[in-house]
Amino acid sequence: MGKNEIKMLKEMMLICHDCGVKEGELHLQGCDMERCPKCGGQKLLCDCKLSNNEREPFLLYPLICARCGKMWPDFKMVGNRQWKIICGTTYDIKDILCIKCMKKIAKIRGLKLDTIHLKGIINERERV
Ligand SMILES: [Zn+2]
Ligand SMILES: [Zn+2]
Ligand SMILES: [Zn+2]
Repeated sequence: MGKNEIKMLKEMMLICHDCGVKEGELHLQGCDMERCPKCGGQKLLCDCKLSNNEREPFLLYPLICARCGKMWPDFKMVGNRQWKIICGTTYDIKDILCIKCMKKIAKIRGLKLDTIHLKGIINERERV
Protein backbone atom coordinates (compact mmCIF):
# COMPACT_ATOMS: atom_id res chain seq x y z
CA MET A 1 0.00 0.00 0.00
CA GLY A 2 1.50 3.33 -1.04
CA LYS A 3 1.19 6.82 0.44
CA ASN A 4 -1.78 7.73 -1.74
CA GLU A 5 -3.64 4.58 -0.82
CA ILE A 6 -3.02 5.28 2.88
CA LYS A 7 -4.40 8.79 2.37
CA MET A 8 -7.46 7.38 0.62
CA LEU A 9 -7.95 4.82 3.36
CA LYS A 10 -7.75 7.57 5.98
CA GLU A 11 -10.41 9.56 4.12
CA MET A 12 -12.55 6.45 3.84
CA MET A 13 -12.22 5.83 7.55
CA LEU A 14 -13.55 9.33 8.31
CA ILE A 15 -16.89 7.92 7.22
CA CYS A 16 -18.62 5.13 9.14
CA HIS A 17 -18.41 2.12 6.84
CA ASP A 18 -21.71 0.79 8.09
CA CYS A 19 -24.09 3.76 8.14
CA GLY A 20 -22.08 6.38 6.23
CA VAL A 21 -22.08 9.27 8.75
CA LYS A 22 -19.07 11.58 8.93
CA GLU A 23 -16.73 11.88 11.92
CA GLY A 24 -18.42 13.68 14.82
CA GLU A 25 -21.96 12.71 13.80
CA LEU A 26 -24.18 10.19 15.56
CA HIS A 27 -24.56 6.84 13.86
CA LEU A 28 -27.84 6.23 12.08
CA GLN A 29 -30.46 3.92 13.53
CA GLY A 30 -29.41 0.30 13.24
CA CYS A 31 -25.71 0.92 12.57
CA ASP A 32 -23.64 -2.00 13.84
CA MET A 33 -20.54 0.14 14.46
CA GLU A 34 -22.04 2.14 17.32
CA ARG A 35 -20.92 1.18 20.81
CA CYS A 36 -23.02 1.76 23.91
CA PRO A 37 -21.29 4.08 26.42
CA LYS A 38 -23.21 2.43 29.31
CA CYS A 39 -22.47 -1.24 28.82
CA GLY A 40 -19.67 -1.01 26.24
CA GLY A 41 -21.44 -3.46 23.98
CA GLN A 42 -22.81 -3.05 20.51
CA LYS A 43 -25.62 -0.51 20.76
CA LEU A 44 -27.69 -2.43 18.25
CA LEU A 45 -27.77 -5.44 20.56
CA CYS A 46 -28.04 -3.90 24.03
CA ASP A 47 -31.16 -2.73 25.85
CA CYS A 48 -29.79 0.44 27.46
CA LYS A 49 -31.93 3.54 27.08
CA LEU A 50 -29.79 6.44 25.89
CA SER A 51 -30.63 10.03 25.07
CA ASN A 52 -28.84 11.63 22.11
CA ASN A 53 -26.38 13.52 24.31
CA GLU A 54 -25.31 10.26 25.97
CA ARG A 55 -24.58 8.63 22.66
CA GLU A 56 -21.06 8.27 21.35
CA PRO A 57 -20.50 10.05 18.03
CA PHE A 58 -18.58 8.32 15.28
CA LEU A 59 -14.88 9.11 15.68
CA LEU A 60 -11.91 8.16 13.58
CA TYR A 61 -10.00 5.19 14.90
CA PRO A 62 -6.51 5.58 13.47
CA LEU A 63 -4.27 2.79 12.28
CA ILE A 64 -1.28 2.62 14.61
CA CYS A 65 1.73 0.31 14.56
CA ALA A 66 1.34 -1.94 17.61
CA ARG A 67 5.09 -2.02 18.23
CA CYS A 68 6.38 1.54 17.70
CA GLY A 69 3.17 3.58 17.71
CA LYS A 70 3.63 5.09 14.24
CA MET A 71 0.33 6.47 12.97
CA TRP A 72 -0.97 5.44 9.55
CA PRO A 73 1.97 3.21 8.69
CA ASP A 74 2.40 1.75 5.26
CA PHE A 75 0.97 -1.76 5.33
CA LYS A 76 -0.13 -4.75 3.39
CA MET A 77 -2.80 -7.30 4.18
CA VAL A 78 -1.77 -10.80 5.19
CA GLY A 79 -3.78 -13.85 6.11
CA ASN A 80 -4.07 -15.21 9.65
CA ARG A 81 -1.59 -17.98 8.99
CA GLN A 82 1.08 -15.64 7.60
CA TRP A 83 0.51 -13.23 10.49
CA LYS A 84 1.15 -16.05 12.98
CA ILE A 85 4.35 -17.06 11.19
CA ILE A 86 5.77 -13.55 11.29
CA CYS A 87 4.30 -12.10 14.47
CA GLY A 88 3.70 -15.15 16.61
CA THR A 89 1.29 -14.50 19.41
CA THR A 90 2.73 -11.30 20.92
CA TYR A 91 0.75 -9.10 18.59
CA ASP A 92 -2.94 -9.56 18.32
CA ILE A 93 -4.42 -10.67 15.05
CA LYS A 94 -6.22 -7.30 14.93
CA ASP A 95 -2.99 -5.31 15.28
CA ILE A 96 -1.09 -3.44 12.61
CA LEU A 97 2.69 -3.41 12.27
CA CYS A 98 4.70 -0.90 10.24
CA ILE A 99 7.33 -1.95 7.74
CA LYS A 100 10.25 -1.26 10.10
CA CYS A 101 8.80 -3.24 12.99
CA MET A 102 7.74 -6.08 10.75
CA LYS A 103 11.29 -6.32 9.39
CA LYS A 104 12.68 -6.25 12.90
CA ILE A 105 10.34 -8.99 14.09
CA ALA A 106 11.05 -11.11 11.03
CA LYS A 107 14.79 -10.68 11.68
CA ILE A 108 14.42 -11.71 15.33
CA ARG A 109 12.55 -14.82 14.19
CA GLY A 110 15.20 -15.55 11.55
CA LEU A 111 12.74 -15.27 8.67
CA LYS A 112 14.10 -14.36 5.26
CA LEU A 113 12.47 -11.13 4.21
CA ASP A 114 13.21 -11.50 0.52
CA THR A 115 11.06 -14.57 0.45
CA ILE A 116 8.22 -12.88 2.30
CA HIS A 117 7.98 -9.64 0.27
CA LEU A 118 6.18 -7.69 2.92
CA LYS A 119 5.93 -3.99 3.49
CA GLY A 120 4.54 -3.72 6.95
CA ILE A 121 1.50 -5.78 7.64
CA ILE A 122 -2.03 -5.63 8.77
CA ASN A 123 -4.03 -8.72 9.37
CA GLU A 124 -7.20 -9.10 7.36
CA ARG A 125 -9.95 -7.99 9.62
CA GLU A 126 -12.65 -10.54 9.80
CA ARG A 127 -16.08 -9.19 10.64
CA VAL A 128 -17.66 -10.96 13.55
ZN1 LIG B 1 -22.36 4.10 11.77
ZN1 LIG C 1 -25.80 -0.73 26.49
ZN1 LIG D 1 6.31 0.18 13.94
